[in-house]
Parts: sequence; C-alpha cells; structure tokens
Amino acid sequence: MKALVLHGIRDLRVEEVRKPRPGPGQVLVRVRAVGLCGSDVHYYTHGRIGEQVVREPMIVGHEGAGEVAALGPGVEGLTVGRRVAIEPAISCGRCEYCVTGRPNLCPTVRFCSTPPNDGLMCEFAVIERHQCVPIPDALSWDEAAMLEPLQVGVHAGNLAGVRPGDTAAVVGAGCIGLACMEVARAAGAGRIIVTDKLDYRLKLARKLGATDTINVDKKDPAGEVSRLTGGRMADVVFECTNRAAGAPQAWGLAGIGGRVMMAGIPEEDEVSFDSHTPRRKELLVQYVRRSRHAARQAIDLVASKRVNVAGWVTHRVPLAGAKKAFDMVADYADGVLKAVILP
Ligand SMILES: [Zn+2]
Ligand SMILES: [Zn+2]
Repeated sequence: MKALVLHGIRDLRVEEVRKPRPGPGQVLVRVRAVGLCGSDVHYYTHGRIGEQVVREPMIVGHEGAGEVAALGPGVEGLTVGRRVAIEPAISCGRCEYCVTGRPNLCPTVRFCSTPPNDGLMCEFAVIERHQCVPIPDALSWDEAAMLEPLQVGVHAGNLAGVRPGDTAAVVGAGCIGLACMEVARAAGAGRIIVTDKLDYRLKLARKLGATDTINVDKKDPAGEVSRLTGGRMADVVFECTNRAAGAPQAWGLAGIGGRVMMAGIPEEDEVSFDSHTPRRKELLVQYVRRSRHAARQAIDLVASKRVNVAGWVTHRVPLAGAKKAFDMVADYADGVLKAVILP
C-alpha cells in the first residue's frame, strides 16, 4: 500500500510500505480522509515539536476517518464497512490521570503521527478497537476527518465554561481558532471577535460566525476589542496561534476576571509577556492539551449543523499531491485553511 512518510525536514515521500494486519483487539481501516494539521507541518518544517523529535521515518497525519476493512481476533461491536472517525490517542487506561477521567493527560499516551508512532496518511491503518468512533451516515468524509480538531475546540469550550451572552475573542483564525469560535457560538456566546494577520482567514471566520474580525497587522487588537465592548473586553479568550506573540495578545484582550484558554502550539520554545496584565486582571489562564471525552459532543454539533466544519476545508488532494499541500500550508499559500489528504 501507499503511505506518506516523513524522513526529515522537508523530506516527505509517497512510498510503498507493507499493508498492516490487525492483531487481537485491532481493526484495519481503509483510510478515506486525513486533515493536514499544523502539528504535521511543524514536524515537516522543524523535525520536532519541543522534545518530540522525528528520528526515524514516520507516516504523518492524525485527523483521520475511514471504513472498517477487517477485524482482528476478538473484536466485537463493529462490522466491516462501518464508517468511523479515528481517535488518534491511545492512553494507558491505568494511571492516575486515566482513571480520573483525564486520558489526554496520560504521561505514556501514544498519539498517531507523534514520533515514534506512525500516523494515518496511508491507504490502510491498523488501530485499536477503542480508537474507532462510529459516525452517522450523514457525515461526509471531510466532516469526519474534522472531528478531531473540532474536539480540541469542544474541550477548550468545556474548560472555558462559555456562558450565554459571553463575549468571546479568538486569537488566530486557523483550524483550531475556527473550532473554538464555532463551539463558542454554539454554546451561546454573544459577540465573537476573531483576530489574525491574514485577511482571507478573517473573511472565512466571518462567514462561519464571527461577529467582528481584526487584522492585527492593521489595527491594535486590544484597542479594537475595547471599542467593540465598551471597554469591558472579552469574558473568554481562546489563544489559537502558532506563535509566542499569541499569549500576550490573548491576555490583553481578556477583561477583568476573564478566562484565557491556551490552545495554540507556539513555534518558539519560550514565551515572554508583561507580568502585570494577567495579575491585575486576575486572569484564569488554562492550557488545553488536545481533547477528552469530546467525540459525542463534536459529532452531535456537526450532525445537527450547529457547526460547519466542512467550511474549513479549502483543499482536497490525493497522496501524490500531499508534499505540495504541506508546502502550501507551511507558506500560507493559495488561500489555504485546511487541506484534506485523500489516500
Ligand atoms: Zn491536529
Ligand atoms: Zn494513563
């Protein structure tokens, strides 16, 4: 079968690899769609995220969906042909964090396309039974692949406790920013202000539900949010950029006693900020690690059309075009927001 394999920085190849066979308790999935995530691009351009370093060739991609192609011995409750979204994390199930309902914090979690674990941009993938999340027929493959990033937004929204009428601000209009924005809207937020440097992304954010957008290269975001809210600023802020500058911007947009959800993964290893702003406002700053127990909420939100995740997808490309798609995403070229790879 064919797979997209990352060998090193900017070295991505479509290769023929052995088709895997499901062992006991495992499922073979014919992969239909995989979203190209910012973290995949990060491994492509930097070869690492923090201390997670690509040392051996690795199949990339973790936002996947497909249909069950074969069942390993002992797998129950699934049939061949069933359409599933793929949960990319395998937590241990035994540690303190797993048994207290926080499997996303499991220190020994294995995650698709995080070295050394292969990802999903391949024709067939073997996954554990519990990684199969059956989806309604009404969901398209694009929508199914977007469930994983949507779940990050759902988790951030759950942690933030968005209340009806809250003013929400979203810093960074990439996929996770749009996920947080749409979840906040579904949770009843009133004004939803989105900031970015790219006008085409702000335009998409408005189309998908932002009430106001700010290009931070053209206007001072804190001044604009102050003007829009009569000086109250935002009740809840979602930081969803890939830059260290996102954090101080987010804290600047939060109102007194506000909540700031840190969902972005900065390219830089260190973040610096003015220490007085968060202290004077007594901000609650909460980091967001992937997601937990958010699949059912995410599926319901998509199936009931309260969020539009298909609207994130700007490009759909076969495996053969995937390297170009990685370059495009890395360069923010061709109006890309989300590229979906179709193995
Ligand atoms: Zn992702
Ligand atoms: Zn664990």
